Amino acid sequence: MEGPSATYNIPMAVRLTGALDVAALEAALGDVVERHEVLRTVFPSVDGEPHQHVLSAQEIGSLLTVHPYDADAVAAATTHRFDLSRELPVRSWLFEQGEFERVLVVVVHHIAGDGWSLAPLARDVSVAYAARVRGGVPVWEPLPVQYADYALWQRALLGEESDQGSVLARQMEYWRGTLAELPEELALPVDRARPAVASYEGGTVEFSVPAELDARLREVARAEGVTPFMVLQAALAVLLSRLGAGQDIPIGTPVAGRTDEALDELVGFFVNTLVLRTDLSGDPTFTELLTRVRERSLGAFAHQDVPFERLVEELAPSRSMARHPLFQVMLSVQNNAAAVLDLLGVDAQVMAAGELAAKFDLAFTLEEQPGTDGLRGQLTFATALFDTDTASALAARFVRVLASLLADPAQPVAQAEILDAAERHRISVEWNDTAVDLPAATLPELFAAQAARTPDATALAFGDESLSYAELDARAERLARLLVTRGAGPERTVALVLERSVEMVLALLATVKAGAAYLPVDPEYPADRITVVLADGNPALVLATQATAAVAHAAGADPLLLDAEETLAEQADTNAALEVALRPEHPAYVIFTSGSTGRPKGVAVPHAGIVNRLAWMQHAYGLTAEDRVLQKTPFGFDVSVWEFFWPLLEGATLVLAKPGGHRDPAYLAELIRRERITVTHFVPSMLQAFVQEPAAAECTDLRAVMCSGEALPADLRDRFFAVLPQVPLHNLYGPTEASVDVTAWACTPADTGTSVPIGRPVWNTRVQVLDAALRPVPVGVAGELYLAGDQLARGYLGRPALTAERFVADPNSSRGERMYRTGDLARWNADGALEYLGRTDDQVKLRGFRIELGEIEACLAAHPAVATAAVIVREDQPGDHRLVGYVVPAGGGLDVAELLARVAATLPDYMVPA
Ligand code: AMP
Ligand code: MG
Repeated sequence: MEGPSATYNIPMAVRLTGALDVAALEAALGDVVERHEVLRTVFPSVDGEPHQHVLSAQEIGSLLTVHPYDADAVAAATTHRFDLSRELPVRSWLFEQGEFERVLVVVVHHIAGDGWSLAPLARDVSVAYAARVRGGVPVWEPLPVQYADYALWQRALLGEESDQGSVLARQMEYWRGTLAELPEELALPVDRARPAVASYEGGTVEFSVPAELDARLREVARAEGVTPFMVLQAALAVLLSRLGAGQDIPIGTPVAGRTDEALDELVGFFVNTLVLRTDLSGDPTFTELLTRVRERSLGAFAHQDVPFERLVEELAPSRSMARHPLFQVMLSVQNNAAAVLDLLGVDAQVMAAGELAAKFDLAFTLEEQPGTDGLRGQLTFATALFDTDTASALAARFVRVLASLLADPAQPVAQAEILDAAERHRISVEWNDTAVDLPAATLPELFAAQAARTPDATALAFGDESLSYAELDARAERLARLLVTRGAGPERTVALVLERSVEMVLALLATVKAGAAYLPVDPEYPADRITVVLADGNPALVLATQATAAVAHAAGADPLLLDAEETLAEQADTNAALEVALRPEHPAYVIFTSGSTGRPKGVAVPHAGIVNRLAWMQHAYGLTAEDRVLQKTPFGFDVSVWEFFWPLLEGATLVLAKPGGHRDPAYLAELIRRERITVTHFVPSMLQAFVQEPAAAECTDLRAVMCSGEALPADLRDRFFAVLPQVPLHNLYGPTEASVDVTAWACTPADTGTSVPIGRPVWNTRVQVLDAALRPVPVGVAGELYLAGDQLARGYLGRPALTAERFVADPNSSRGERMYRTGDLARWNADGALEYLGRTDDQVKLRGFRIELGEIEACLAAHPAVATAAVIVREDQPGDHRLVGYVVPAGGGLDVAELLARVAATLPDYMVPA
């Protein structure tokens, strides 16, 4: 199928020291090829159908070529590409290094040989050489059968599949059942994504199973009534499962296929490949797993006659050039007789014969070590997927898991030790060494302290309006007094139905000064969402302006209008001292995110969490009084929290974009340039639009651009630096449930990585990548990301069951802490930074929203015009979806403009500006 290639070469290299009779060796090779028909069989094709053609001894030609020694030439010989249609499937080269030093390379194509063939091959060469050196010809018993006889016999034995009672039909039936719904591809902890076409380039690392462990292996095998191979197979399945491959693990293994004594002396391809499928579901103990493995293995061996290629034809659901069909990991235990070449008086030492081609992603080979105890292991890996270090770590992990399983076979396999102590310490302690002692504080305390420090500095700029710190503080204080009289206070919420405006900032500050948590309600939200938010948020009061009053009324609220004469008058009259018993544990805000059942859920974040987050941010990026921070994120998203409060706690200036301005990249670029903005935030899809704006390159006052909300693609990073090479770009990650962001990564123009990490944990935060049994997974292995520490939200407002589901006990904490289960997939890289890999569930992220696929469906169903259109969601990376457009059937009587308007009204923030 792939044409001549070296993938299925079986290379042997032998160093020959002594007086070699080259002519005798060549003649001996001829004798052997004459003896074994299969070695002089070619496979020409007629009408596209290859068939065998056995050449006569006279047609063979020269079998040995002699060359001066050259390491590259030796390597090239081992990767000789046979053209099986006209070339013998065996070739030899003799490389001369001196009169008594030579390297013999013999390469047999797998079509004519297998591992077991090497012993009879070497023996026959030895016998023939001995005869030829003496000037004679070998006298040997003719072979009882030839490979062609075996082929005919095998065909007769198997019978026709159409014949119900035939061996083939019965065995196929077994495999069809056993391998039903086999996972198409095993998820392995690869270093690089799988190329579309496998290169078959392989590397090899060595490992060993020490003598005591080998002895224990045999002991357990005996006790459980299984073979040592079954123990190794079960342990390998556990390893792969724990490395993220799931609970259904197919592993390939070769069987000799020499089921009759008459075949023992034959060179030929008898080996077959079995698929051993291991079921790890239901939290079995190792003993239980061994029982399952035994049953499956005995079944597999009893049905071993169906050639693997027939199975593939029958069962492989989708063929791919990228991976091996049916399984990608091979396990073999070599027990074939050693090949011994005895060339009278010439010392023959087998040497490494180049890198083996990687037919599989990973191939574990174990072999008894002659003379010593213990097993020698080799792991051959596809270099396209794995680095050598990763392969070595995998091999070491295999031995560790084996030891852990054998130490206590009655223990559930999910508990087997897969990390060593140093690794565990590095991941759990060193990479999470984030403790910083911070004084307990609340947002209003910190803001008041800043206002006292810099009363005359500009706190807020919005169009032509601006307020100093003293003015902002005083006005917010007056409003806060009013809010307290209306029922605001700790553990209560105040809903803000407001557009971006000075009133919005006043309302935020006044609410937290009053001790209440602010509940942002974007007036652009669909009415049904606003109704849910106001019902579940249970606010003490609702604030609006005359412009947004109608929205609040529509949701059944009776808002206090901030810009109404009476409200302003009432504030001026109030000057009672504001005494609020606010503590850091009280919620500062409640932000609604979409819920897994579709009903939005209100995340209640305490002051302690957001204050920690802001303190870390100041430490990491150091705002000064000169900084001008752009506020453009809709306040229903928690990114807006730092946009508002970070500058206000540090004496910098908060610059507000106009309402709706966050959707217009041209406006933003112009605003950033004109207002000399120094710090701003973009979700990646908006950053993409921004860097395409000609004015973006002129935003040179920027000294930090923060990205978060979605995966930041590496090519966007590169584009950004192409436009603004001097501006630092940061990738921040976090859910609303953990105070905006919990990890951060500083990009640099020198970065070349194909993915941008989400980085390392912020202060007083622990991040854990755990498997399904909540155990830490090793570096490079995908797991679910769990968060712990000071930034965790209190939970979901009024939803104790949902809170208990996502905020769970941390089994890896000695202090009885909670951890938040993010639903995000991540892995550690070798440098201790996290990489984001997507979501674990059916949610998609669209422009900063998490949304259930079902929600889109429900939404479309509720809007009949939209239901006739097709939604185009692009999957940029696994789990990272983006809504890129709609297709409207032509001539369907649809008003396209009206349709798009409805879509925009329904899903405003999911729309990527076109
Ligand atoms: P939200 O609660 O709306 O802030 O959404 C949080 C979710 O957004 C996370 O759980 C991630 O799925 C995703 N997210 C946030 N930041 C990033 C990032 N830097 N890279 C990839 N995904 C992110
Ligand atoms: Mg967020």
